[in-house]
Amino acid sequence: MYSEATTESSETTEPVTAMTGQTDSTSQGQKADTAEKNVKVKAENVRLWYGQAQALHDLNLNIYEREVTALIGPSGCGKSSFLRCLNRMNDLIPNVRIEGQITLDGEDIYDPDVDVVQLRSNVGMVFQKPNPFPKSIYENVAYAPRLHGIANSRRELDELVEHSLKRAGLWREVSDRLQTPGTALSGGQQQRLCIARAIAVNPEVILMDEPASSLDPLATATIEELIDELKDRYTIAIVTHNLQQAARVAGYTAFFHMGEIVEFNDTDTLFTNPREQKTEDYITGRYG
Ligand code: ADP
Ligand code: MG
Repeated sequence: MYSEATTESSETTEPVTAMTGQTDSTSQGQKADTAEKNVKVKAENVRLWYGQAQALHDLNLNIYEREVTALIGPSGCGKSSFLRCLNRMNDLIPNVRIEGQITLDGEDIYDPDVDVVQLRSNVGMVFQKPNPFPKSIYENVAYAPRLHGIANSRRELDELVEHSLKRAGLWREVSDRLQTPGTALSGGQQQRLCIARAIAVNPEVILMDEPASSLDPLATATIEELIDELKDRYTIAIVTHNLQQAARVAGYTAFFHMGEIVEFNDTDTLFTNPREQKTEDYITGRYG
């Protein structure tokens, strides 16, 4: 276990905003380039309860456009709960209460007028365990666009399926067997199929909850390369308990601990020069 950094904290004059991802040119550690970054998703004072148990305490985080933001921290600290807030997946869990505000391009995603189905297309999600539908590879990708009326003719759908599979780095491996079941693919391929499925409905943000933790090292490397390519077009938030992975793929990292965000910064700074003792203890493997 770590010990509280009480002695340092009284002397530190760093503004709280630096920890919350808000730009503050006077704060050390936070690279100045965040000043020009567009905030795609903004979470302010997010609190979440499961029944009586509070799982998230006043979380603040900026997720920058076309960047990869990693959410790290020990098991049970609220990473998945927070990620699910960003596309209202928690709405599906009974007895959940959420307070605070989350905006996407400045629009409150919890506004009663928001079309939640549309929101979840716009903010797609990829889970730890690949979960293709028990349908063909083609149908896994084509199903949602057809449902949403994104592509109507067979030709449009064919093109969209090819385009999405290409973007997910899977096309070359499956183009000759699109009618075989998605579930027959390897784990790594299934995960890329799930990414293709998310891409097919034209999202702007993709949330990934430990997307590689059930995969072997080679498939993991493929997913990491893919994430690096995807960030040219999409805003990505990825939960990972693999610190090397966060260091490899993410431009920004938020360290979660016991339902709070202890520290947020560009990944290099957070890993090499953490501001908080808790962060340092975690990244040096002292607990967690
Ligand atoms: P992490 O993803 O960081 O491991 P979670 O967000 O899954 O953390 O969990 C945060 C806390 O919320 C834990 O105490 C966990 O037990 C609790 N929790 C998560 N999901 C649920 C749920 N569906 N119902 C009740 N409690 C939950
Ligand atoms: Mg989790």
